[in-house]
Amino acid sequence: MKKLLLNLGAVAQVMWAAAPAQAFNPVDGCFPSAVPRSLKAMNFNSVIRPSVPLEEIQKISQIFKETFAEDLARRGQVLKITLDESKTDFNAFAKVEGADRLIMVNARAMAFQAKMNPDVVGLVLCHELGHHLGGEPVVAEYDMSAEGQADYFATSKCMRRLLRTPYFQQNVQPVSLVYQSYCGAFLGRNDVADCARGLMAASVLAGITARINLQEPPAIEKSDQTRVVATEMAHPSAQCRLDTLRAGGLCHKSDELLMTRGFPNWGACLLRDSSLYEVRPACWYAPGSQWITLANEISF
Ligand SMILES: [Zn+2]
Repeated sequence: MKKLLLNLGAVAQVMWAAAPAQAFNPVDGCFPSAVPRSLKAMNFNSVIRPSVPLEEIQKISQIFKETFAEDLARRGQVLKITLDESKTDFNAFAKVEGADRLIMVNARAMAFQAKMNPDVVGLVLCHELGHHLGGEPVVAEYDMSAEGQADYFATSKCMRRLLRTPYFQQNVQPVSLVYQSYCGAFLGRNDVADCARGLMAASVLAGITARINLQEPPAIEKSDQTRVVATEMAHPSAQCRLDTLRAGGLCHKSDELLMTRGFPNWGACLLRDSSLYEVRPACWYAPGSQWITLANEISF
């Protein structure tokens, strides 16, 4: 009985910790910082020379557009990517303007991030595309997928296709065996290496997210133990974001099975047909609850 009470106490604590801290707001961007404005230079992470030159980021963004513009065109939408070279804080944004589906990246701040490489640039763009093509849960007010869903789409659908393009096949990033071991479910298929690259890029991006929010560095072998009772539409913790990116990268469903509005299970790995490591993690996703969250967020 004592053990049961202790467990219930732990559950209550987790639920309390899981209370939504912020509403989904695309104006804040996808990688908002908790660092005070006066210390925003920290976001540069003090590398003197760019980890990825601006010209390379421009090239990657062009390849990205060529790879995915057709997906939006089929919906009567136009993919537009803007690289802002004036902002000093690391961030990226998605926005809807009529038929235009915008992706905006603070490219200079991205270039000067330590550990940044073309795969991570691709992953940031994939996250932004995930707001447009990631499917449910969708924040109806902004007509965009939730933050966690954009992360899940990024590694389960977008990165796989992007890494198959000639540019990324020719610019192979060295990947440690640790990441390859996580992709064991893909053994025997050609995409083990791409899966590992996706996870490695995910680790770098989640690490940046943690640093600019003064959070503990996330680790690929750890998991956020938070259990939400209603789907979190805004940003989960950096560790939770890494858990989600890892789940997307390990999800065995084809990247051709697309996600779409109105069908939260389409294209996603589910507990009934997948392992726990492939499904959207409970640190932000509560199956079936998003409609309640949405109703709370929409102002009638
Ligand atoms: Zn986002």
